[in-house]
Formats: sequence, structure tokens, C-alpha cells
Amino acid sequence: MSPILPDQFQLTQHQVGQTEIQIDLVAIQTVGRCPACQRTANKVHSFYQRTLADSPICGRAVSLRIHLRKFACRNDQCPRKIFAQTVPAYFSPYAR
Ligand SMILES: [Zn+2]
Repeated sequence: MSPILPDQFQLTQHQVGQTEIQIDLVAIQTVGRCPACQRTANKVHSFYQRTLADSPICGRAVSLRIHLRKFACRNDQCPRKIFAQTVPAYFSPYAR
């Protein structure tokens, strides 16, 4: 298991293969704040994935798949319309 599993994420599934361990995390937070107009949004537009690598465990490569939401901003005046949850900075050492 990864030494850091931040509490903003929930483990949805994991698979242990011969050469790889695949871990799926989903962001718990279901609302976002639009970076353009600062309005909160809870209308999910879609999901997207980021795949990150963690250090190998027992000789198996570990990949973290993080499922993040894209929100639709409901402010008609907002130029942004759609914005995404971002991968928190503490994951950046693992980015591929
Ligand atoms: Zn907005």
C-alpha cells in the first residue's frame, strides 16, 4: 500500500498482477470552486483520469489511477464553463 493515502481520496479498487499493482482512487470531494469566478459547482460534467507511478512494492510496479471530476460552472457570465479537479501537489513526485 502507498505510504500516503490522502484523506481526500477513497480507494475504489486495486488489482495485483504478476508485474504490476494497479490502485484506483477517486476524489471524495463532490463540489469544486471555479478558478475563474470562485463560484462553487456541484454539477459534474465528466470524469477524467490521471495515472501516476509509485515506488515498486515487492518487485511489482505500482500505478495509481486517480479519478477526478470536471465540473460545469453554472455562472452564465463565467468564461470558464468547465473546470477540473486537479491532482494535489503531494502527488507530483509520482507524476509520470
Ligand atoms: Zn465560473
